[in-house]
Amino acid sequence: MPYMWMEINTSNVNTMINRKECANPKCSEYFTSVNARKRFCSLVCKNQAAYWHKQVVYEWENRIQKQRLKNIKILESLYKRGIYTANDIELKKMGFILEAAIIPDLTAENQTVFRFGNHYLVMIEANEFRIKKVK
Ligand SMILES: [Zn+2]
Repeated sequence: MPYMWMEINTSNVNTMINRKECANPKCSEYFTSVNARKRFCSLVCKNQAAYWHKQVVYEWENRIQKQRLKNIKILESLYKRGIYTANDIELKKMGFILEAAIIPDLTAENQTVFRFGNHYLVMIEANEFRIKKVK
C-alpha cells in the first residue's frame, strides 16, 4: 500500500494517540495523549518547566527584583528609625545596591531620584542621599 494512503487513512481516525517525551528538561517521562499540542506529562511538569524557563531567561530581572525588595526593606527600616540621610558606603554595608533601581528620575531642582517602593533616595551630593517617603 502506498505510504500516502496510510497517512490519510490514519488521520481520519480522531483517536490517534501520540507517544512523546515530556518537554520538562527535569523529567524524562513518556506519556500518551490524543492532543497533539500537549507537551508535558502533567500540570506539575508544565509549571516546573515554566518556572525554570523564567529562572534562566529572566535571571537578571529576577535578581534585580529581589535586590529591589531588599533595598525597599532597608530604606523602610532606616526611615522608621528616623535616619533620613545615608551615603553610598553605609548603604552598601547594609546590602543596598543602588544599581537595582529603575531608571532614575529628576526632581524640579534637577536632583537625581531613585525610587524603591514607597521610599526614594534623592541624590544631594555625588555619594550622599536623602531618604524620603512618598506621601
Ligand atoms: Zn514530566
